[in-house]
Amino acid sequence: MEGNPYQKYELGKENIGLDIGPSTIAIVGESTAELKEFCEDVVLIDKDKRRINRKMDRQRRANNPSNYQNNGTVKKGKKKWVYSNRYLHTRSKHRELERRIKEVRKQLHGRDTNQILQLASSIQTEKLSYKAFQKMFGKSIARKAPSMFLNILKRKVKSRGGEFREFPTYSTKLSQTCHCGMIKKKTLEERWHKCGCGVVAQRDLYSAFLARYVTKSNRVDIKKAKMDWIQFSFVLDKCVSNLERRKPERKLISTFGI
Ligand SMILES: [Zn+2]
Repeated sequence: MEGNPYQKYELGKENIGLDIGPSTIAIVGESTAELKEFCEDVVLIDKDKRRINRKMDRQRRANNPSNYQNNGTVKKGKKKWVYSNRYLHTRSKHRELERRIKEVRKQLHGRDTNQILQLASSIQTEKLSYKAFQKMFGKSIARKAPSMFLNILKRKVKSRGGEFREFPTYSTKLSQTCHCGMIKKKTLEERWHKCGCGVVAQRDLYSAFLARYVTKSNRVDIKKAKMDWIQFSFVLDKCVSNLERRKPERKLISTFGI
């Protein structure tokens, strides 16, 4: 089985900057920018699953009161567990949801990576600090498997001859940087990049824009970003006004800041 595998499509031609947040994904290229919820459906199923999980726990306790101590913790040592039919039913529901989470996530990862590939021949993005992410945003982020997403993207781009580069967060500080040279920390609630120099842009889109200009030495090439900004400010504005105009099927998540 030698040779290259069949590929449904060719890579695009643009240099893409990518920003993945706990709930958003921002994609910025020369001709277009996009801001979407990241793996939104996975979160909904996960909510269901956690509800079922609590139900399982209640049933387990109701069926096995002698296995628990007064403070609610499980007794040590050998125990016999009684599983009611209702409990077994809940458990199979729980397993089904776990399976759905994996399936839906795979679908969404596939859909979104393919969309990026059709645009991109080169991709630059921040290396995700998974631990820091989880510390700040809890378990729901684990469900979305952002690192897995980036690995799939990396593999697909490289197998088609494109470029993929991750740079470390700590040296670039994209979320604090403006292409005028100003560095200012933002709070998590600040969804817009507003700098004293007059630059205003949606935060995630702006980070994705800057990601395009991170050099091999992990610095933002401010000069180049400045030269390109006028063109890109139109691309970013268009993305935001599209989001504003779109009839929302679901309310736009607040983290967009739109
Ligand atoms: Zn500025």
